[in-house]
Amino acid sequence: MYHQYVTELSSITTLSLELRRKLTTQGWQIARPEIAKAFQSADGTERYLVNCPGPKPETVETVWMPEGDDGEAGDSTDEEPSPDTKSWRRATICVSSQVGCAVNCQFCLTAKLGLQRNLTAGEIAGQVVAVLDRHSVRVGCDRVNLVFMGMGEPFLNYDNFMAAVRLLVREVGLSPQRMTVSTSGIVPGIERFAQEPPDLRPKLAISLNAPNDEVRAEIMPINRKWPIAKVIEAVRPIRLRPHERITFEYVLLGGVTDRPEHARELARLVRRTGLPAKVNLIAWNPGPGVAYSTPKPETAERFRRILADEGIPAYIRQPRGRDIFAACGQLKRTVEA
Ligand code: SF4
Repeated sequence: MYHQYVTELSSITTLSLELRRKLTTQGWQIARPEIAKAFQSADGTERYLVNCPGPKPETVETVWMPEGDDGEAGDSTDEEPSPDTKSWRRATICVSSQVGCAVNCQFCLTAKLGLQRNLTAGEIAGQVVAVLDRHSVRVGCDRVNLVFMGMGEPFLNYDNFMAAVRLLVREVGLSPQRMTVSTSGIVPGIERFAQEPPDLRPKLAISLNAPNDEVRAEIMPINRKWPIAKVIEAVRPIRLRPHERITFEYVLLGGVTDRPEHARELARLVRRTGLPAKVNLIAWNPGPGVAYSTPKPETAERFRRILADEGIPAYIRQPRGRDIFAACGQLKRTVEA
């Protein structure tokens, strides 16, 4: 199922025909999440509505970004394109971990759904397999990155999320070094993550989005429970792999978090952590019913330059699939509308 993309019991040829028949007669089935609908962006990004056949059927969203979004820039895994034949040299799959989300970040469309339910490990890993199958990805040969940054907060579904990672590493054969999980700062989850073996855990991104607690609490109410200092303390014990860095994700909200003084304060904050870190900047992606504004590209570039001048590696993530609501913070099953 995970390696050969098999979707029917009858196709598992490593089982005898007799056994396959017997299992089918007894009512056994195999199933994986199915792509029910695909939305295509002018930039090649595809957003999928994926049916999860779990105990309570639901749909989630998964995104395929050929050429990625530069999210892994500067973390030592951004070279080596896929060899030959494909129309893309590298691709990134953005994976959901919950249906909806309870964290309520004010700039995020998914938050509007509230939390519907956790996904099972099979549903999380199955989204990836369905997308790999659709694009005939040759695992181990083609260059594919995974980001657990779709719908949901992975660290509020920790056991299923990590079980999915183990499935993806051990069964599908994907490298954990090409996976990144983003958390809004769920401290107990980060503390558990710090105990995971380095060869079996993704890289960590902290969705920081503000240079201080005051601004952060305004746009991310979760900050009242776990302020920035507590999050950083939880990150500190993580044993990093050689060249690995902690990523701080930072959404630029026009007039709210994108001013030069915010950049300087952010640089001081990152420097004070003493962690090997980089900053990924994302200009906010608009969505209906969310009242923020998107900064101009030159504002984002000015912000990046201030960080760089202060010695903080900073990269601007490319918006992918904005026209189909596939970009960061835009996933909300818009097909229902
Ligand atoms: S940004 Fe992430 S953690 Fe925050 S509400 Fe959206 S999905 Fe949840």
